[in-house]
Amino acid sequence: MVTLSMLTHPINKKGKTMAASSDAFTPEQLARWRAKALAVHQRLLEHFGPAPRRRRDPLDELMLTVLSQNTNDRNRDRAYAALRARFPTWEAVRDADPQAVKAAIRTAGLANQKGPRIQAILRQITKERGALDLNFLAHLDTEDARQWLLRFPGVGPKTAAIVLLFSLDKPAFPVDTHVYRVTGRLGLRPPNLNIEKTHALMERIFPPEAYYDAHINLIRLGRRYCHPRRPRCESCPVRDLCDYAQSQTTSHQAPAQSQEGGIA
Ligand code: SF4
Repeated sequence: MVTLSMLTHPINKKGKTMAASSDAFTPEQLARWRAKALAVHQRLLEHFGPAPRRRRDPLDELMLTVLSQNTNDRNRDRAYAALRARFPTWEAVRDADPQAVKAAIRTAGLANQKGPRIQAILRQITKERGALDLNFLAHLDTEDARQWLLRFPGVGPKTAAIVLLFSLDKPAFPVDTHVYRVTGRLGLRPPNLNIEKTHALMERIFPPEAYYDAHINLIRLGRRYCHPRRPRCESCPVRDLCDYAQSQTTSHQAPAQSQEGGIA
């Protein structure tokens, strides 16, 4: 069970770069977001349950995440399966004819971008490490491992955090489009905070031991209730905790009160 006291954990070493961008927040803001993050996390655990654990080899996860950019899970998985079927090893992908790689991953979309990107990453890893193996990252500090991944073309904060969290058991909080939208509506971040800084803030307001379940459950919430256009607030499990839902209630009440002459 996560407790409120666990949310007051000091900023640890991992935050030296990612957290620096959100250091402008006041202690009062952080305390409020931490309390809400805990309440949302616990409510989502009650509603959805803990997230099923999965673990892939970190290089597999990195390649899969690059393929996932700007597409859905189904097309990503089809492209990944086709790539692995066509080329038995990552060395074979690295050394393949670029056109053959693009053809294999076509279903993921943006093949002309993703194919060369995948091959460039594989070449660079080989050059730096002498082999296609990212398990050494497990022995690095989280922030050092994150910075190592972020140097690659096409690897942003979300991709790096996914590899860290899902394949290396590192405390990183990936923020995808669902997490970004839902945390904005809930009021777990300032509305205008960009997605990169939202990664840093989420790592400050959720306790590290909650990252995995909170990340997955916020995505579940986004997919099943908090749709981009028509959020299903009326049946949402965190409605009473949500700034957007409260503002909708208030704005619907305001005209009625005004018509009755109850507001100055
Ligand atoms: S109450 Fe509505 S806006 Fe808030 S998280 Fe739920 S679905 Fe999204």
